[in-house]
Amino acid sequence: AKSAGRNTMRFFDPTLQAIANAFIAFELDLRQGLERQEFELHYQIQVDDAGVNTGVEALLRWRRGGKEMVPPAQFIPIAEANGLILPLGQWVLETACAQLMRWAEEPGRAHWTMAVNVSALQLAQSDFVERVGRALGKTGANPALLKLELTESMLVGDIEDVVAKMKAIKAYGVAFSLDDFGTGYSSLSILKRLPLQQLKIDQSFVRDILIDPNDAVIARTIVALAHNLDLRVIAEGVESAEQRDFLAGIGCDAFQGYFFGRPIAAGELPKD
Ligand code: C2E
Ligand code: CA
Ligand code: CA
Ligand code: CA
Repeated sequence: AKSAGRNTMRFFDPTLQAIANAFIAFELDLRQGLERQEFELHYQIQVDDAGVNTGVEALLRWRRGGKEMVPPAQFIPIAEANGLILPLGQWVLETACAQLMRWAEEPGRAHWTMAVNVSALQLAQSDFVERVGRALGKTGANPALLKLELTESMLVGDIEDVVAKMKAIKAYGVAFSLDDFGTGYSSLSILKRLPLQQLKIDQSFVRDILIDPNDAVIARTIVALAHNLDLRVIAEGVESAEQRDFLAGIGCDAFQGYFFGRPIAAGELPKD
């Protein structure tokens, strides 16, 4: 390929040219989408072992050009590659905190927790601790109701830096959950050093938990590990009563999945 000026690549293959153009258009739309407020948060209910709704996870949605919904799996990797995840992630944090503040006035939802996904790039920002503080301060949300979801893949690199930031954020009263647990490579020694409150069993182990003995063993091991470390454990991707019952039987403390509800707009959520 030969460069022909800003944002243009000339390929000899017209198919490659088309792909490159589509990618550039997608990036441009993503940038404009943030300015034009095309992003929304949907919320998925989380339920404890007594069946009580205890909170939600905020999940990002993009209505591209005000029209079709683009799933996060399609735009988050690109937003991470071009750095747009930083303003986007801050928007998510502030919008989720503002929602928490609205629920503070509602009898059935005042105690709900709000789980927010954090990208590795956000956590790596030197002022990430201040950014979390700003979102809380700006909205007046109760820090004790905010829970940040990190993934195992963030625990590579500068672990000292991660631990220091987590401790500073925990000092606000904010909790941490380790998402997609079991899919990465976090060592026990690292796990012990993190100020976590919760492990989240990845949905890939929940999907076939009733038919695949390996998944059942992994889930049991995660529950035992979590409880030994004094952590709570939540299972994601719970789609049936049978899965819920099995997970409850092995000691899971909380559940999330289509069985309890899909991610939906705040106005459509149940109460407790
Ligand atoms: P995740 O954090 O593991 O979120 C759980 C995903 O599983 C969500 O997909 C959710 O809609 C889906 N899900 C929930 N219950 C079920 C179920 O019972 N069965 C099945 N098959 N799926 C279920 P979604 O909303 O498409 O999000 C995909 C991923 O995008 C998230 O995975 C997360 O990694 C990322 N993401 C979403 N919102 C944000 C955000 O605000 N910031 C960042 N950095 N990442 C986000
Ligand atoms: Ca998550
Ligand atoms: Ca997850
Ligand atoms: Ca997952």
